[in-house]
Amino acid sequence: MDRVTESYEAPVSQTLFARAARVTPGGVNSPVRAFGAVGGTPRFMVSGAGPYLTDADGREYVDLVCSWGPMILGHAHPAVLEAVRAAAVRGTSFGAPTPGEVELAEEMVARVPPVEQVRLVSSGTEATMSAIRLARGFTGRAKVVKFAGCYHGHVDALLAAAGSGVATFGLPDTPGVTGAQAGETVVLPYNDLAAARAAFEAHPGEIACVITEAVPGNMGVVPPVPGFNQGLADLCAAHGALLISDEVMTGFRVSRQGWFGIEGVVPDLMTFGKVMGGGFPAAAFGGRADVMGRLAPAGPVYQAGTLSGNPVATAAGLAQLRLLDDAAYARLDATAAELRGLVGQALAKEGVAHTVSAAGNMFSVFFTAAPVTDFASAKAQEAFRYTAFFHAMLERGVYLPPSAFETWFVSTAHDEQALDRIAAALPAAARAAAEAENS
Ligand code: PLP
Repeated sequence: MDRVTESYEAPVSQTLFARAARVTPGGVNSPVRAFGAVGGTPRFMVSGAGPYLTDADGREYVDLVCSWGPMILGHAHPAVLEAVRAAAVRGTSFGAPTPGEVELAEEMVARVPPVEQVRLVSSGTEATMSAIRLARGFTGRAKVVKFAGCYHGHVDALLAAAGSGVATFGLPDTPGVTGAQAGETVVLPYNDLAAARAAFEAHPGEIACVITEAVPGNMGVVPPVPGFNQGLADLCAAHGALLISDEVMTGFRVSRQGWFGIEGVVPDLMTFGKVMGGGFPAAAFGGRADVMGRLAPAGPVYQAGTLSGNPVATAAGLAQLRLLDDAAYARLDATAAELRGLVGQALAKEGVAHTVSAAGNMFSVFFTAAPVTDFASAKAQEAFRYTAFFHAMLERGVYLPPSAFETWFVSTAHDEQALDRIAAALPAAARAAAEAENS
């Protein structure tokens, strides 16, 4: 809170934050929202329309968070709203199978060939947690390999050297996760295939699965080096382990088929969330039919959920996916490319060392000129410059992720007008980044 002195007021948000802090730990329901990494008052949002958000003080922002990925068509898209309304008036939850679940599952299976069967859940965390249980149940093995800086939700076993909020707050570990829960997790440096090979040699017959973000977006965007994901698939196949490609962030975001559609590496299981829920709590895991067939009630590995396949969430997700055609992805790619160019030019003009790192239409800015290939090199950036940059943008009506270790997201609703607003804010923000001092 003390790291910046706000030169602009947000009195209603301040009051709400104080009220929230009395009844909710830290005043938020997900840690990064608290602005802990950048300081200042989190903006309490009251509405969204297209590429814009409006806060409780009545100030409008161009939104480059997009709810951390889901709002790929922008806020309050009419077709999604209509699908939600139509579903809600028929009833909001039945605890019984519904046609919408079948349609959403069919849409996902049709789009992503490695997904032969899919199980719907309510959050990305639930998806990765369940995929790991299934991998352990299928292989009869205990160990899970993950990569430092990758975030797969707040699954106990995966909160080791994790990205996103865990990276933002520099948490080495999380109290409450026991040695037994984390003890079967092997954490390796990202993009290091030799380390993965060595792990399989060190633990013969013990590794159930390797889980990796298809493209890490939770330490900033750190693309896999060519051959890394395929190398993992090959290693898993050779050692009887399963590869879980976590596409919660990339799935249906970077192409019709997610990162699979760009790189083509075939995993055994995949996890999804964010875009497929259309802004509602819907997520999924899926993959090889013989593996998915081990899941209850078809098989013995238990997994369940009162609100799994919720009819309103599935309707929103389906409506969103059906609008995401090739033209939509081309537009997203073009918008992201234009924005990357604008940011890079503004920072270069002020002589700020930086790297704009991208994977499809996902990107982030590292305040370092050195290559960023893993968590260690991501953390070596001058994150204090991001703090200054972030606040200068916020003051000028651009809402960026409140952490240097998060992905920036665009939507199909980000038009020239929205980009003009961002362009107008960038020179002052780049200057603020250049002048920032490490305190
Ligand atoms: N996996 C990845 C790659 C994510 O980015 C996230 C969330 O940011 C998750 C899993 C967890 O999803 P959720 O926040 O819906 O639990």
